[in-house]
Order: sequence, then structure tokens, then C-alpha cells
Amino acid sequence: MEPIRTTFLGTSGSVPQKDKNFSAIVISFRGETILFDCPEGTQKQLMQSEHSLMSINKVFISHMHADHFLGLFGWISTMTLNQRKEKLTIYSPKGGKEKIQKIMKEVIRPSFPIEYIELKKGVIEKNDYFEIKAIPLKHEIPCYGFIFKENDKIGEFDRNKAIKLGIPVGPLFAKLAKGEKVKVNGKTFTQKDVMNYKKGRKGRRIAIIADTLPLKQIVKEINQVDLLIHEATFLDKQKDKAIEAMHSTALDAATIAKKAKAKKLALFHFSARNNDTNEILQEAKKEFNNTIIPSELETITI
Ligand SMILES: [Zn+2]
Ligand SMILES: [Zn+2]
Repeated sequence: MEPIRTTFLGTSGSVPQKDKNFSAIVISFRGETILFDCPEGTQKQLMQSEHSLMSINKVFISHMHADHFLGLFGWISTMTLNQRKEKLTIYSPKGGKEKIQKIMKEVIRPSFPIEYIELKKGVIEKNDYFEIKAIPLKHEIPCYGFIFKENDKIGEFDRNKAIKLGIPVGPLFAKLAKGEKVKVNGKTFTQKDVMNYKKGRKGRRIAIIADTLPLKQIVKEINQVDLLIHEATFLDKQKDKAIEAMHSTALDAATIAKKAKAKKLALFHFSARNNDTNEILQEAKKEFNNTIIPSELETITI
């Protein structure tokens, strides 16, 4: 199985901390590198990570709070100095495009085209290998969570079966595997004649839930997700603050993970008030044991 690699560029929320950068995540899979949020410091963190900042073609901005998008400008400026030519696609909530363009217009003339796509509930990106789904969250301003899902594998091409059917080894195999019909000696064959469906499996999933009040509605969407990345700005003892600022606590995140039967929970977006990450971890583990607090630039492979 091709690995799906998730790197945490940082885990702090609202303001950076001495030992923590702002929260941003990179997922890389099958040669594509995707960025989720682009706060200040993102390009510097990318330089220190295993990912190249020039290789990213898609960035998903959860919402238009400063700690989630201000890094776009420095990064785009660097790529312009490096004479990037490839298109960059920026996905952001309604109004994001105008905000980004307004700031950019004053300072940068990008050397490459930028496409803007407005986030809407549902699948917003799909290709041969994976899809990305946006789910509305509940925050002070419109905010989206994302589910990265590897495409389901329907089965495996069975060579022996194809040979037995009299299909000559060669390009017809690839056509059948892709789902095209082929004709051999007047007989038509389809994919289902040559597939071993027992080798099929569901695609792996990663959910990224940025700034939000804990939302029961997402539980169904993220049911049995392989990796749940959930914000935990506050602790349970600061619950009133969490409600006021429309954020979650570590306990909230763990409760969601438990209800959704997630396989693993990674917490991020911590308030500078809570610099003892052990306290955050212990609070979450009481409810959901397989919880981790990723360190800066940590990569999780599933
Ligand atoms: Zn935030
Ligand atoms: Zn926010």
C-alpha cells in the first residue's frame, strides 16, 4: 500500500509559542503534496520538513482568521522569486478570494496563475487516487473541516484469469483494468471478467477539524476514520472560554473521537495558555486512549 504521510508543521493556535509554530498540515500521497491552512511561518516550516514548498499545487484554507492564512503572502512571494510557473489553487470560504487578492495586490505580483475555489459542503476535489470533502464547522466565521479519502480499491486485476479467458498479454490488460471494454476474437470482455474483488478494500481516511465548537453532526461523517486531527484550543477547566471563542477542549475532541470510533486522534491548535501539553494529553486520554500530541514537523504515516 502506498503510504499516506501527514506532517504537522505546527500545533499552536491564535499566536505562535516559543516552541510551537502555528497549526498547519501537509498530506502527501502518490506524488501530490497538499497544504491545509497557511499561517505565518508555514514556508519556513516547509523548508525544514520533508516536503518542498514549490511542489504544493493545492492549499485549503479552513477559515479567514489571521492564524490560518497570513502565511500565504510570504510563501507566494518566495515562489515568485523562485520563478514558479505552475498554477496554485487556493480553496477558501466565501469572501476568502477577495480578502487574499486585496492584500496581495499591494505587495506581490505572482509569477504563476492562482485559481480560487470557494469552499462548499461536499466533495470539492477528486482525482484517480483520492478525494477531499469539505464539512462546515461552527466557529465565529464560516469555517470548514476536511476529509481526505483515498479512493476505494474495488479489487485487483487477475492476470491468470485474463490469460485463461484468452486475452493476449499486453495493452488490453491495462484497458480492462481501467474499466474499458475490449474485444478479442469477436468476444467482448469487461473489467468484471478479470477482477478479483476479494482483493478490494475501503480507502483510508484522514479528517482535519480546525477551529470549531464540538460538533456532534460530524461524528457520522468521520465514522471510523483512520486519523482524526482535531483542534483542542482549551482544557475542560476553560470550557466557558472555549464556548465564548467557539473552540473545543481536549475533552471535547476526545469525546468526538470516541463517538466516531476513530482509530487514532491527534490534537492541535493549542492556546498559549496551555503550554503543558501533558495536561492536554492526559485530559484527552481519559476519554480516548489512542490520542497523541504531535511534535513540530512530526510525520504520521498510515
Ligand atoms: Zn485558529
Ligand atoms: Zn479561528
